[in-house]
Amino acid sequence: MCPPPSWDYKIAVLLEVTTHGPITRVRMARTIVGFDLHHSSAFHVGGLLIDTGPPATAEELAAWCRDRDIEMVVITHHHEDHVGGAARIKSTLGLPIHAPTPAIPMLAEGLRLPFYRMFVFHGRPRPFVAEPLPETITCGDLSFRAIPTPGHAFDHVCLFEENHRWLFTGDLYVHERVNMFRRIEDVWMHIDSLRRVLALEPDLLICSQSGFFEDAQDVLKHKIRFWEELADEARRLRDRGWSLRDITRELLGREGMRTYLSAGEFSKLRLIRGLLRGHGSGRPG
Ligand SMILES: [Zn+2]
Repeated sequence: MCPPPSWDYKIAVLLEVTTHGPITRVRMARTIVGFDLHHSSAFHVGGLLIDTGPPATAEELAAWCRDRDIEMVVITHHHEDHVGGAARIKSTLGLPIHAPTPAIPMLAEGLRLPFYRMFVFHGRPRPFVAEPLPETITCGDLSFRAIPTPGHAFDHVCLFEENHRWLFTGDLYVHERVNMFRRIEDVWMHIDSLRRVLALEPDLLICSQSGFFEDAQDVLKHKIRFWEELADEARRLRDRGWSLRDITRELLGREGMRTYLSAGEFSKLRLIRGLLRGHGSGRPG
């Protein structure tokens, strides 16, 4: 009799470490036959660790942290690719985990995830009790302000170190031309958040997905402009009587594999719909 197939077959994890001045980036992903499905990053600077990657890399990140000078951990938002290693780090290293206050109950209860996300990130993050994130986080001679930046997630914060003008953006930036959204994201709230951090005049932008940008203000302006111009074009076509589906295809092309794999959760159509609705179209999650 054949043994039952193991879905963990040929699954591995990636931990790639790079530095930019005093900041260390640990890029993490679950990989299958050499391909990473989706990566995210943790950053170590001074005595602070910012975010903890997906559940798949929790053991490896905790082992990496063991040999580092880390006093506290801060989570930028509750998504599983940012909190996946937090419980492990807390239980094995005894470090406090600070999270945005609105996320604390759901982190303690455990996140509920659709199957495709458990597949991509290899499971659910273990529940853990987080401490409320203060407005100012002082770690050695570094001082970070937690800036509320909802849109991608209701609890999302960026961390701004004013003396160095570093802006840690979690998933606020991702890349310039994000062209698909989830139902629970709010694109206009997201644009307001981008403007809020642009007003801080940061020099270095540090993104979980795309790494380091030394022209922080330019990349933020380009991202805002991309969505605003897309909204202008979408309105122009709507006013000529085009349907939502036709507007989306004209401006962004057909939906891709990610839309089908997520059963429609991620889509270009959702982004265009949000841009056409205007401010306050929904609660991000
Ligand atoms: Zn996220």
